Amino acid sequence: MAEEPAAPVACPFCGLACDDFFDLGDDLDSKGCGLAAEGLAIPAEGGGPRLAGGAVALDQAVTAAAKLLRGSAAPLIAGLGSDVDGLRAALALAERVGATVDHLASDGLFRNLSVLRRKGMIALTLGELRSRCDLLVVIGADPRPGFPRFYQRWFNASLPAPIGGGTRRVLFLGAEPLPETRADLGEIPIAVVPGEISRLAELALGLRSLVAGDYFSAGSIAGVSRNVLTDVAQRLGAARFGAAAWAAEAFTFPHGDIAVSALLDLIRALNRTTRFGAVPLTGRDNGMGAVQVATWQTGYPLRLAFEAGTLRHDPTHLSWRYRLAQADLLVWLSSFRREPPPPFDGPVIALTAPGTAFAAPPAVCIPVGVPGLDHAGDVFRSDGVVALRLARRRPSTLPRAAEVLQAMNEALAC
Ligand code: SF4
Repeated sequence: MAEEPAAPVACPFCGLACDDFFDLGDDLDSKGCGLAAEGLAIPAEGGGPRLAGGAVALDQAVTAAAKLLRGSAAPLIAGLGSDVDGLRAALALAERVGATVDHLASDGLFRNLSVLRRKGMIALTLGELRSRCDLLVVIGADPRPGFPRFYQRWFNASLPAPIGGGTRRVLFLGAEPLPETRADLGEIPIAVVPGEISRLAELALGLRSLVAGDYFSAGSIAGVSRNVLTDVAQRLGAARFGAAAWAAEAFTFPHGDIAVSALLDLIRALNRTTRFGAVPLTGRDNGMGAVQVATWQTGYPLRLAFEAGTLRHDPTHLSWRYRLAQADLLVWLSSFRREPPPPFDGPVIALTAPGTAFAAPPAVCIPVGVPGLDHAGDVFRSDGVVALRLARRRPSTLPRAAEVLQAMNEALAC
């Protein structure tokens, strides 16, 4: 009997969720992804649960965590790096104990989301980028470090010609591409327009004016001369199917959301004469999954507080960074990476990938399995349109974060 073809394996270590592996790890060297190699180096054993550094059985750790949660007046459940099942369990626990909930990478997510819900977004899937795009504009710092195989998988010289015609070109607006990116792109013509990325909103609005043919009197904007801006606007307008990609997590300058808003205005103006769309690169640690799960469970994205039987959503004041100072208990969930909890003035319940190094022993520490390595699960890709199934890839006795959170919830119900 013919052998069944091996099923593809999705990688859990960034928002691209590459699913072109047949045995995760085997061909990483040829694919050149250091981020995945780092994830694969997470050990399969974590030394077991601990209370203030002392080893205990899992049920003792769960009982101790439930006791802390019961006594907390203002718990914060943050990090939220987990698969869909873990996220559902975290929300159920938050509802029971009246916690605030937010994801580690929500700053970047909300720079896009806050604009998306005000004015909408003409967005592309990664599949559209690969099959249709003739001009990719990369805005701000090269996103390759956080999305190492972005070009290798979705936009490079070895892909078939774009559907509908055109020749692939790429324009880096604001910063130089990394040398690895140039190698990934191959023979694709690369243009670079350096500029002050902290003034991206001005840059994008200037380009929008030029694209729309509006009055434009500036001699330069954000370090880019009027002549260069005019040339860029012409290139954008000449695209048959353009894409503008950015990683909003890097927009750490003041009012990064306004920069996103200006980019969406530019894209809207371009769509009067051609086809152009946004490719916002987000979703590390299944952040896009956290947005999806929170939305379908509650009607709101992250930054939620379950308070006195009601649900509150506040994109500013319920960010985990802001709430750290007000919380009296932190539940920190990071199952994809060995990300320790931030400095916190109170007890910490840490559900983290094995081998996480802590500045001080958490009150309760329970090493949990890595989704896609130690157990199966589901994650959402950066573009939010595809949920990918992760497979278990190695023998492991580590509990799933979902199981641990559910056990805490059940202990609180008693
Ligand atoms: S680019 Fe991201 S999803 Fe793809 S192999 Fe690397 S870490 Fe995994």
